[in-house]
Amino acid sequence: MNTKLSNRVNEMATSATLAMAAKARELRQEGKDIIGLSLGEPDFSVPNFVKESAVKAINDNYHSYTPVDGYGELKQAIITKFKRDNGLDFNPSQIVVSTGAKQSLANLAMVLLNEGDEVLLPAPYWVSYSDISKLAGGVTVEIPTTIETDFKITPKDLEAAITPKTKMIIYSSPCNPSGSVYSKKELRALADVLVKYPNIIVISDEIYEHINYEGGHTSMAIFDDMKDRTVVVNGVSKAYSMTGWRIGYIGGPDWIARACNKMQGQITSGANCIAQRATITALESPPSKIQYMVDAFKERRQLILNLIADIPGFKANIPQGAFYVFPDISYYFGKTIKEVTISSASDFSLFLLEHANVATVTGEAFGDPNCIRISYAASDENIIEAMARIKNALT
Ligand code: PMP
Ligand code: GLU
Repeated sequence: MNTKLSNRVNEMATSATLAMAAKARELRQEGKDIIGLSLGEPDFSVPNFVKESAVKAINDNYHSYTPVDGYGELKQAIITKFKRDNGLDFNPSQIVVSTGAKQSLANLAMVLLNEGDEVLLPAPYWVSYSDISKLAGGVTVEIPTTIETDFKITPKDLEAAITPKTKMIIYSSPCNPSGSVYSKKELRALADVLVKYPNIIVISDEIYEHINYEGGHTSMAIFDDMKDRTVVVNGVSKAYSMTGWRIGYIGGPDWIARACNKMQGQITSGANCIAQRATITALESPPSKIQYMVDAFKERRQLILNLIADIPGFKANIPQGAFYVFPDISYYFGKTIKEVTISSASDFSLFLLEHANVATVTGEAFGDPNCIRISYAASDENIIEAMARIKNALT
């Protein structure tokens, strides 16, 4: 801890996903042959039609500051996308484009949370929900789940976690890290609880919407009695393999969108102009244009599940979406392998890094201390080699 720094940053955890990716990079530079399955990052190139529109935007001399909440044409493309893919109606004042969905989430936490407000996080949750909420003064309340219920909360779990201080709930479906997808029926059952607590805001992170292997994506905002307090978060990082282009967006109640616009105007301004132009092209195209990536992820899911089934002590659910497996590896707790005693998921993940040269992320970072997250947004060759290395290291 550095006392010259703010308490804010001293108390904050480093993003475990990014930290593991950095560590893998460092070890590679030292000459180690590390297979990185830690970062949730598609290994595909950006589709050509999207690249071409970015090149065109440069040649068309897009260069200046953009409106804080995004180009009008992009907001229109987002509105059309929400209608086409989700059956949701928004008007432009309800849309804010940001520098990645991560910034959208940070904006929301900053504009909605006061000191001591409680934020419900069905666990496992995406790593940054917790620290973003705390940064804004929130107190996180985890709602634990188990592999037996496919890592999904029930209405009873939800109701038990609500207190007079509950301000919001944040979840992703498809879920990073578990891959679980809430069905319309399951979301309705959760909505039936939430309607009794009108002050709770729902942050529905739908960034993996298209990476869904069973079909049937539903947004909480589809329910008339939830629409005016649900904020849908989405972006192009995952479905369009545009992680480094940094475009995310929200669709939500007007008063929340206006506040995000105000917040962003003081912190980063509008998102990158070239990436915004390219995102218009991406979102205007039918999702069938990116289906080849989803099909590839689906095959890799089967590949990794088959290989995992062959590793003793790994217990995995079948992820319905996203590109992660989240096996329970608690079987290894208390065991000593290659003179290393494993007492936690972090120990296990570090053991895999050191003895199998495979980078994963500890489940502790996602609020589940029994699991590790393995990303299969990687080539078949790397998945096969990584699982073989893990199996060898453990047996
Ligand atoms: N939400 C979830 C669930 C994610 O996995 C990610 C991954 N980065 C984000 C938000 C942030 O995405 P972006 O790249 O748009 O900031
Ligand atoms: N969302 C990705 C992940 O979970 C990218 C890393 C990050 O933004 O934290 O790995």
